[in-house]
Amino acid sequence: MRKNFLPFALPSIDQEEIKEVVNTLRSSWLTTGPRVKKFEEKFAKFIGAKYAIAVNSCTAALHLALSAIDLKRGDEVIVPAMTFAATAEVVRYFDAKPVLADVETDTLLINPSVIEEKITKKTKAVIPVHYGGQSVDIDRILKISRNHRLKVIWDAAHSFPTKYKGKLVGTFPDITCFSFYATKTITTGEGGMIITNNKTRAEKMRILSLHGISKDTWKRYAAGGSWYYKIIYPGFKYNLNDIAASLGLVQLKKYKLFLQKREKIARLYNQAFRSLPEIEIPTVKEYSTHAWHLYVIRLNLDRLKINRDQFIRELKKRNIGVSVHFIPLHIHPYYQKKYGYRAKDFPKSYEAYKRIISLPIYPKMTQKDILDVIWAVRATINKFKR
Ligand SMILES: *Cc1c(COP(=O)(O)O)cnc(C)c1O
Repeated sequence: MRKNFLPFALPSIDQEEIKEVVNTLRSSWLTTGPRVKKFEEKFAKFIGAKYAIAVNSCTAALHLALSAIDLKRGDEVIVPAMTFAATAEVVRYFDAKPVLADVETDTLLINPSVIEEKITKKTKAVIPVHYGGQSVDIDRILKISRNHRLKVIWDAAHSFPTKYKGKLVGTFPDITCFSFYATKTITTGEGGMIITNNKTRAEKMRILSLHGISKDTWKRYAAGGSWYYKIIYPGFKYNLNDIAASLGLVQLKKYKLFLQKREKIARLYNQAFRSLPEIEIPTVKEYSTHAWHLYVIRLNLDRLKINRDQFIRELKKRNIGVSVHFIPLHIHPYYQKKYGYRAKDFPKSYEAYKRIISLPIYPKMTQKDILDVIWAVRATINKFKR
């Protein structure tokens, strides 16, 4: 058994990132400046989109996206039940209603048919999540959304880089939001990126991201002098800083190496677990690639003498850190109190929740780390199978 604990997630930070951060510190330009601008340009170019706005989190990105589509109090926004807090809380910022939709059992992706069922006169937008790193069925969701005049904000926190039918997530309308949180596939410590091809919305989001101050306004109207500015919205303080951007620039360059390592780990897990009747491995749709932010196994509980929580404890005893993505929104106290949701309202999300475990999958893992995870899962199954 392994001697030291294997963390569930670790960022991939090496000398190159450290050097670039130190260079930024030495440059004395710490806040939003030349490195943020360069990071935005490189990221937009990589995705193949017109506008990229760097912000200090994906949550901020989602908030600004909803501002850009003019979400109003009382509007409804459809979000998956199986997601992180951020996807729904940003809707609440507007005193609008996050309408939860159940997910598909095999992929845990939002079910497009359920989206259609949930649409009312008040529905303004949908926020699909590319759960784990594979894409939702973008064409189907866009078709439904266009038929009902809904806007689509893609929560791409897990899906850098993911391709849907050969095109990168981020190239589809209306707005895509990426996360560079420490555990995501590339990181700036904390950070996010908004991607769109719509100029008006891009400008509005940029202005809102920094106190609603329009720089173009002072360029156009100021009598001269860089001290002049105009506030045109009550904005937010969501700008990314240059220290973070310098991390992002290095991470972006390494995306392929990171992806290949994650793919390799997923392959080894698949090979090791495919034939075990006690667990199910992730299903990947034929129209999507997988960024492998998460590798989620599902326990076949009727074939085991222990439940998911006990399974996690057994893995921990064997020095393997794991996690659960996610505790569905509708069983959290806030959403239960606010909307009266009960566990069985979203049965697929709830049933999945009782069975899922996210295994470690990150480039820093060694061959031995990977084999240790496989061993721990197998040993737990062998000890507790029926
Ligand atoms: C991590 C995450 C976010 C939020 O990202 P931050 O950059 O931490 O704000 C949003 N949605 C999903 C699905 C996430 O996993």
